[in-house]
Amino acid sequence: MAKRLMPEKLLQSLRDEKRLRELAGAKSYERGEGYYEQGAVRSLVTHAGKLAARVEGTEDYTVVMWMENDVLRFTCSCPVGEREEFCKHCVATALTYIEAATSPATPEDEDDDEEDFDDELGYARPKVQTLNAVQSYLASCRKEQLVELLLDVALQSDEWRARLKRKACGRER
Ligand SMILES: [Zn+2]
Repeated sequence: MAKRLMPEKLLQSLRDEKRLRELAGAKSYERGEGYYEQGAVRSLVTHAGKLAARVEGTEDYTVVMWMENDVLRFTCSCPVGEREEFCKHCVATALTYIEAATSPATPEDEDDDEEDFDDELGYARPKVQTLNAVQSYLASCRKEQLVELLLDVALQSDEWRARLKRKACGRER
């Protein structure tokens, strides 16, 4: 298994604006910047060196980014992202994460549900959440509880049902 590095490495990598522009291309970068300015990134979650974000547009998309052997890796559920291109959602996620992670007013506290309401934007900028509390809870569950929990997830999420079915067929581990 490839070594996963901490989010600090990811942040460092994403802060290289020139590199982001090159990665995305001028058009995607500009569109992503627009998404960032509009506040299209609605959630930011970090866990085990990975960053996940939900980006709202005509549809909602999920972006995941991480560092693997010092190389920036990313996925987005949009059609462009599926072609493994650094899409506008990735750009918006990167810019929003840089802002959230470097702003002194946004500590990484998963118990703090209060959001900073932005009068100009008309809604809150996302804070960086962690899964620490969720991890502790899951670690305390019995196997039967975990099975029930994941069945509930599979029932309610098309994406997770498909993922778990693939795992059940042994096509993905
Ligand atoms: Zn995308």
